Amino acid sequence: MRYAMVIDTLKCVGCSDCVVACQTENDVPIGYCRDWITETVDGTYPNIVLELKSERCNHCDNAPCVRCCPTGASHIVDGGIVLVTPNECIGCGACIQSCPYDARYQHPEGYVDKCTFCHHRLEKGQLPACVSVCPTKCMYFGDLDNPNSEVSKLLKNRKWKTLAPEAGTKPNVYYLI
Ligand code: SF4
Ligand code: SF4
Ligand code: SF4
Repeated sequence: MRYAMVIDTLKCVGCSDCVVACQTENDVPIGYCRDWITETVDGTYPNIVLELKSERCNHCDNAPCVRCCPTGASHIVDGGIVLVTPNECIGCGACIQSCPYDARYQHPEGYVDKCTFCHHRLEKGQLPACVSVCPTKCMYFGDLDNPNSEVSKLLKNRKWKTLAPEAGTKPNVYYLI
């Protein structure tokens, strides 16, 4: 099992429904977020392309946040999901500094928090909250080890990119372009 999220940048309208769903589902404190929308403008007038996309922790295979954690609070579980155990986290912030995607934040209660790929929902056979609410259905989630999964087929048939591949983190969130 190798979980991945695939997000179609051609279908994202930047509505932020995924952000609100995540905050509600995961009791994210007001003023913080586990996912966010980015807008990138490319090209020169009149040939300008606007790219909107939903970003979060990339659940990297080669995760610096896990390597640098002095207590083991940051760890990888089955399926490649990167999690933080709050009561093992001392709030040192090393993981926040090491993440090239700025995907973590310090929770007001002292520990570090970030996207969990909605691990608690996966255990119940549900999709991540953000994926389940997207009105344009631009987000997909599944197992890359299964060649017949929707995510595997999309990555086989469409052009895609990952964010900051030069960082060498081997992200598991893919963007269709
Ligand atoms: Fe760690 Fe950042 Fe990669 Fe998430 S995106 S696994 S927090 S390095
Ligand atoms: Fe580990 Fe917590 Fe320190 Fe992050 S803040 S490196 S999770 S102990
Ligand atoms: Fe938030 Fe879950 Fe989506 Fe991660 S997978 S951004 S925790 S709703």
